[in-house]
Amino acid sequence: MSVQSSRYGRQEIFYGIGPEGQEKLKKARVAIIEMSAIGTAVANNLARAGVGFIRLIDGDYVDISELQRQSLFTEEDARNERVKAVILKEYLGSVNSEIEVEDRITILDGSNADSLLSDVDVVVDASDSFETRLLINEACHALKKPWVYGGALAASGMVKVFLPGEEEPCFRCFIGDEEFIPGETPTCATEGVLCSTVSMIAALQCAEVLKLLTDADSVRSDLISFDLWDNSFDTFTVEKDPECPVCRGEYSFYGKASKAQTVSMCGKDSMQIVPSNEGEIDFEKYAEKLKNRGKVKYTKYTLDFDDGDVEIKLFKTGRAIIKHVSDEKRARAVYAEYIGL
Ligand SMILES: [Zn+2]
Repeated sequence: MSVQSSRYGRQEIFYGIGPEGQEKLKKARVAIIEMSAIGTAVANNLARAGVGFIRLIDGDYVDISELQRQSLFTEEDARNERVKAVILKEYLGSVNSEIEVEDRITILDGSNADSLLSDVDVVVDASDSFETRLLINEACHALKKPWVYGGALAASGMVKVFLPGEEEPCFRCFIGDEEFIPGETPTCATEGVLCSTVSMIAALQCAEVLKLLTDADSVRSDLISFDLWDNSFDTFTVEKDPECPVCRGEYSFYGKASKAQTVSMCGKDSMQIVPSNEGEIDFEKYAEKLKNRGKVKYTKYTLDFDDGDVEIKLFKTGRAIIKHVSDEKRARAVYAEYIGL
């Protein structure tokens, strides 16, 4: 078969990659954190490019409000509230059977970061939470992994590669001591976001990932910032902060035991409860216990309970999404009553 007609022909004739670069991609391992609008686009792009191993880390299911920007999900996925990582593993497997795609239905935290990130070459941030990014930053500093930050809001976006190394600035150097107070930081749920914004971010991130994986010397060192509505594209240098705790190896999130958390879900009118000790719930037994109290159905990955008042989606590990609840106390009370803390 000629190079042009082979699967990766167009990449192999590109001077930046070539057959040698393609071989490197085949052996490369990437973790993508969250199957958001950015995460799905990045996963699609890298799977098609022939990155040999892709780990999809996400603990969420598809909602109709996400179809506007999260490519690869369908109305049927939303109707059935299918688990994102599972859908993508299946889909990307059908796109490229030569690579390995791993689904990890979980949320990155201080205690599981090692097992999720230590065996990959590059980490891609596709999360929409600053706390998650602070954790990725610390984990990648500790594990000496390059990671690619991507942030979207409305029509604007930012992308920056953070490299390991004494002289390199980190994400904390970039944001300084700024506190991100839940409810006060603008999010995609309050400001909106365009599909073109996230596509642009994903494209910029993927190009950097391909450069990192093929040892290109053109890896972008500055931060790129754009606004598609105001027609602005700018680049900035991120300086190393001599006072940065992360650069000194002082971590606030990485390596810490996770504690039980209640978090509101961006744009979903639901609260998520993450227990401090994740286990393995036996859905069959649990369904038996709940069946007299309301409607119960379950799959290999999730169990749904609905008694007309309370609606719960429970994951295998004990993590649960309490729907139509925006109050933390109420969510915890529901969890305690139906699942048990
Ligand atoms: Zn730093």
